[in-house]
Amino acid sequence: MRILKFGGTSVGSPENIKKVLQIIADYQAQQVPFAVVVSAMSGITNLLIKASKEAEQGEESYLSTLKTIEEKHIQTVSDLITIQYQSEVFAHVKRIMNDLEDFLKGIYLIKELSPKSQDYILSHGERLSAFIINKTALQQGLKTSFVDARTIIQTDRSYGNAKVDFEKTKTLIQKNILLKDGTPIITGFIASTEEGNTITLGRGGSDYTASILGEALAVEQVEIWTDVDGVMTADPRMVKNAFSLPAISYKEAMEMTHFGAKVIYPPTLQPLVNSDIPVLIKNTFNPTHIGTKVSQKSEHINKLRVKGISSIQKIALLSIQGSGMVGVTGVSGRLFSSLAQAGINIILITQASSEHSICLAVAPEDAQKASEVIKQEFFYELEAKKIDQLIVEKELSIVAAIGENMKDTAGISGKMFHALGKNGVNIRAIAQGSSELNISAVIAQTDLSKALNALHDAFFLSDARSLNLFVLGPGLIGGTLLHQIAAQYDYLVQKLGLAVKVVGLANSRKMVFNQEGIDLSSWKTQLDQGAASSFDAFVQEMKNMNLPNSVFVDNTSNKEIANYYEEILSSSISIVTPNKVANSGSYAAYESLKKASLGAGSQFLYETNVGAGLPVINTLQNLINSGDEILKIEGVLSGSLSFIFNSYDGSSTFKEVVLQAKENGYTEPDPRDDLNGMDVARKILILARDAGYALEPEDVNIQNILPQACLDAADVDAFFVELEKADQLFEDKRAAAAAQGKKLCFIACLQDGKINVGLDEVGADHPFYGLSGSDNMISFTTSRYKTNPLVIKGPGAGAEVTAAGVFADIISISNQ
Ligand code: ADP
Ligand code: ASP
Ligand code: MG
Repeated sequence: MRILKFGGTSVGSPENIKKVLQIIADYQAQQVPFAVVVSAMSGITNLLIKASKEAEQGEESYLSTLKTIEEKHIQTVSDLITIQYQSEVFAHVKRIMNDLEDFLKGIYLIKELSPKSQDYILSHGERLSAFIINKTALQQGLKTSFVDARTIIQTDRSYGNAKVDFEKTKTLIQKNILLKDGTPIITGFIASTEEGNTITLGRGGSDYTASILGEALAVEQVEIWTDVDGVMTADPRMVKNAFSLPAISYKEAMEMTHFGAKVIYPPTLQPLVNSDIPVLIKNTFNPTHIGTKVSQKSEHINKLRVKGISSIQKIALLSIQGSGMVGVTGVSGRLFSSLAQAGINIILITQASSEHSICLAVAPEDAQKASEVIKQEFFYELEAKKIDQLIVEKELSIVAAIGENMKDTAGISGKMFHALGKNGVNIRAIAQGSSELNISAVIAQTDLSKALNALHDAFFLSDARSLNLFVLGPGLIGGTLLHQIAAQYDYLVQKLGLAVKVVGLANSRKMVFNQEGIDLSSWKTQLDQGAASSFDAFVQEMKNMNLPNSVFVDNTSNKEIANYYEEILSSSISIVTPNKVANSGSYAAYESLKKASLGAGSQFLYETNVGAGLPVINTLQNLINSGDEILKIEGVLSGSLSFIFNSYDGSSTFKEVVLQAKENGYTEPDPRDDLNGMDVARKILILARDAGYALEPEDVNIQNILPQACLDAADVDAFFVELEKADQLFEDKRAAAAAQGKKLCFIACLQDGKINVGLDEVGADHPFYGLSGSDNMISFTTSRYKTNPLVIKGPGAGAEVTAAGVFADIISISNQ
């Protein structure tokens, strides 16, 4: 025989009930004997609680809440039962509802709601659903019969959370169920006391009804039919990548449910373990899926070390510490027994080996009472200051990694804490059960979703991690980057197991966010329809979303956004940017940015600050990290200036060359922004700082190459007029250099801690002599590369190469 239990969602609407009836019909056709347990329709138990609280507070709204409940059932009957049979069923539903209304009227008048009355009120949900389902089944020609579980399950008087008298219950079940004609349709959740009062088994208790029946009837298996494909690696509402496990052990399932996996009501497995009756978790809406088998052993099917990541959303942490606790026997004993006597459930305990402190987690609603109990128990120790103050912290959660095989594997906790640390999740307390079935950590509630997803990725998807990008500025570089990401998406998933998702996107006017990833084929339209954007709002939303592996990609050259970098990095969001502003401001700002990511697990990557996609910064950092010493850095660091002086061979005037460069899109809209050397100065300053020199922007000696009149010109056209007047000046310089077989070259140089930026002459023996087009070139003279400098050369500008450099930085973040 089998027990099939259908949960609230499974019986939550006429369409869903039809699915349940189909499953019942299929089982009957297979002639497997079975009994069915049903929950109340989804939402009804909560509405019954609402109505009872309203009545207790003397609020007449309980009547409209009742109306909602009645309408839902009446509608279900009208949808499921053919008209000629409806009146009888309507009449019964009405009778039950009238009886409930009378009862609630009493509560309303005396304004008192006992746990006993509450249980009686709640019983109506299951009584209605089982009744309607049975009537529908009968009308469809199935052989079934209604059973009110109050006639077969007997309990003590713990209203709201009844303890079952298994001996009496077993006799009642065997007597009443086995002889039933047709498949019994049994109300879940409810039972009765010895005196015959209605009582409930606790919220979610219909699962328990099924297992009580299963044990009493020694069934071959208990099936819990719900709305997911079985027990999953994490709560699917919190972790989108969660997947269902084909098999887990009783111990693992109990640990998961104890740590918040609502899919099975925690006490459910207890009655079944001794008789080794397996539980199958199945999906009513996907019945062909194999679901999850919970039994004594899971190993033969499932080799995963960690089976699931669970969480308890709300806990309070109580810590007591003090010198007086060291070496004193019985402190923990007194603590735990005093709390147990007060009926307070301790969810987690940690004790430092120094015995200096004990932390324990309880449900937030127990925190106040627990604190009073502890203060009372340790009154003298607190008075004598042997124990410092008791600290109570709220708004915390517990995350736990669960699995039986964890104990045989080294490094699980390392992996867990690395994943949390990397994402800036601060851990308040850690506990590892002595059975090593779980490792749990207490964290801030605001970090819960991020922690669950980061842990899930770390344990289950080590070959499919996700990077969550927030992209600011989809202009030339940003737009190219989005294009590159879209084109490489599949490749990165397959080759690197890396899903690069753009979860936030903004320009100066609009912004959009989508946790699932913005569809990059239509980002423009989505952005147009987005909300009004501001830096502040964008940064706040990034922080609020609190996703693991978050990366902020700043493709702007904006100054203000750099003021947010520190806040972003210390919120555990990495930054990748070609924007030089942040690194080339004051040295103090540069230094505090470096520090901001320490401890937050974030990274700040800016390879494209110098030489676009060329590996300049990386090479420099590798040299430094491996102990080399930088003696000199020399570079042609501006693609625009490189183009201008490489093309200036005497065949055209200087003005014509600059104009050509502008028309080819090699310069800024105002070419003076290139010719004034500021951009080059910023780049060499960043290199110098990364090489270990604490230099300020004023320390850069920039040789001005433009006459004052060019600098003073009111606009770009006026500038070109002035530049033409200076043609002879440039021609003289060029000719003088050419006379010695040399070329003009705009060079930045760091030597002996001094930076010079300006126009120089280079001979054929100089590496920069052979530069062409808009190429950049950087040479590092170091202790190791002394006679032959290390030289990097290549295109140092252009949207494609810059975006590719940004992309490479983004991918390198995933390798950490
Ligand atoms: P029912 O009404 O069928 O009893 P519940 O809502 O009580 O269903 O339990 C099923 C729900 O449990 C799922 O919809 C899912 O959101 C939640 N859940 C939480 N943790 C897990 C987990 N680890 N695996 C599967 N479901 C889980
Ligand atoms: N209807 C009850 C509840 O919502 C029992 C159950 O669904 O298991 O708690
Ligand atoms: Mg449930």
